[in-house]
Amino acid sequence: MTMNTAINENIDPKAGKRANFYDVEAIRADFPAMKVEVNGHPLTFLDSGASAQKPVQVLERMDQAYREEYANVHRGAYRLSELATENYENARSSVARFMNAASADEIIFTRNATAAFNLVSSSWGRKNLRAGDEIVVSHMEHHANIVPWQLLRDETGIVIKVAPIDDDGNFLMDEFAALLGAKTKLVSITQTSNVLGTMTPIKEIARLAHEAGALVMFDGAQGIVHAGIDVQDVDADFYVFTGHKLYGPTGIGVLYGKLDILKNMPPYQGGGDMIEMVTFEKTTYREPPARFEAGTPPIIEAIGLAAAIDYVNSIGQEAIAGHEVELLNHATKALGQIDGLTIIGQARQKCAIVSFTIEGVHPHDIGTIIDARGVAIRAGHHCAQPLMDRFGLAATARASFGMYNKKEDVDVLVDALLYAKEIFA
Ligand SMILES: *Cc1c(COP(=O)(O)O)cnc(C)c1O
Repeated sequence: MTMNTAINENIDPKAGKRANFYDVEAIRADFPAMKVEVNGHPLTFLDSGASAQKPVQVLERMDQAYREEYANVHRGAYRLSELATENYENARSSVARFMNAASADEIIFTRNATAAFNLVSSSWGRKNLRAGDEIVVSHMEHHANIVPWQLLRDETGIVIKVAPIDDDGNFLMDEFAALLGAKTKLVSITQTSNVLGTMTPIKEIARLAHEAGALVMFDGAQGIVHAGIDVQDVDADFYVFTGHKLYGPTGIGVLYGKLDILKNMPPYQGGGDMIEMVTFEKTTYREPPARFEAGTPPIIEAIGLAAAIDYVNSIGQEAIAGHEVELLNHATKALGQIDGLTIIGQARQKCAIVSFTIEGVHPHDIGTIIDARGVAIRAGHHCAQPLMDRFGLAATARASFGMYNKKEDVDVLVDALLYAKEIFA
């Protein structure tokens, strides 16, 4: 056997086994949705930013867990319940390793990213924030990182400050730094905008937040998919993400929190599984993460999420990111050549999400017309209405890419957009 040392030397062990050749067709073969036909056309799925498709490895793992390994967790003294508990707790350890958390106890399973924000605002926020205390978010936040703080504001009188972005969608560091002060208690910023694709300088944001004496929380719903996260390196206090965008199932999200912070937070919801002892007079609570997981948890969803993480690791996050950059560059160039099309968001650090408008065609009409060609994109405000207002828009069309997209998907999109333009010409 001859070895091609040049290629072998180029394999980055962190980038996974397929690093030297990104085999997009092999990846597509793992995703049943890639074989679906829509309106007589093969599906061109460009809406992974809203939710990603699932590989068979995830579907089969969940199916098997439901068929042969299923029981409630943390309860039974019988083998099947022990097995389900092991699976569920192993999923927690998988997530901890994937984010480089110091301990699996720092991983709380929630319903989605939204629930994780609500947990922090209700538990940490109510305990630690008083009238006049300040929270800093950015202008490009998802509603999930705005509305929970507004609910808390209405209750407590805290102040929400908004860090600005420029017209290209770049996060403005100096302007952000100027908002920080003695009253700042929490900085909660997205790692990646789901509309503009902007990647924010999270490490620098964390450093400045900590210098001001504030905690820092990141919305990783998009960021963990496109860039990954090392919560210890970034020094995040809280970090949230959602399973369904990371090629895992719906119904599961993650709140990461530093253990010493979690230990000092009161329960969020009360019920089974989160208690030590209950009497009608007094109830005591378990340590995190159990304290924050009241009731039967998303057992099979956690197992599915762990399978999704295994799948992503088998391809390699860096390899996926590299592939997505190629798609982004190709899409930016090809869409830029369409007359009357404006790309919204051209930040210097950007991932494979492209929002755009076309002169004379409403984004919803774009979506509907190209759906007739089997092309699935998102049209609307993308749960970021303040950001839409910032650009003076009611809606945009958005193409977002995943590990299974190929360059030809961009070409199909461009053809379909030209067709949409013709209809409205
Ligand atoms: C999708 C998304 C969320 C919310 O995720 P859910 O699963 O709906 O809770 C929050 N932030 C960003 C940036 C997102 O893209």
